[in-house]
Amino acid sequence: MGESMRGSRLGTTSYETDSGIYAPRELTTYVCENQHRVTLPFSVEADEIPDTWPCACGSKGLRQGVQIQPAAEPKHVRTHWDMLLERRTIKDLEGILKERLEVVRAKAS
Ligand SMILES: [Zn+2]
Repeated sequence: MGESMRGSRLGTTSYETDSGIYAPRELTTYVCENQHRVTLPFSVEADEIPDTWPCACGSKGLRQGVQIQPAAEPKHVRTHWDMLLERRTIKDLEGILKERLEVVRAKAS
């Protein structure tokens, strides 16, 4: 009887190793467009550290090391043809084309 009581007592005595231990924290710095910096400790175990943080000035702080992709530029991309037309007129090009065709034909014959 005494033997079993000692056993149950041992069983309820748990080794509380996790009490008072905080999860490691990672300092994350946000910089807003006005170059204000704010550093916040986030738990490393946090599922998601936000990429942005509202700055006190009202701007949005961007997490350091995070690149936000700029929206695709709608501006017209110059083609080789556009650049060619900036230097030569169609008349010039027709002359060059004629010359080149003559060269090609001379080689072919
Ligand atoms: Zn700011």
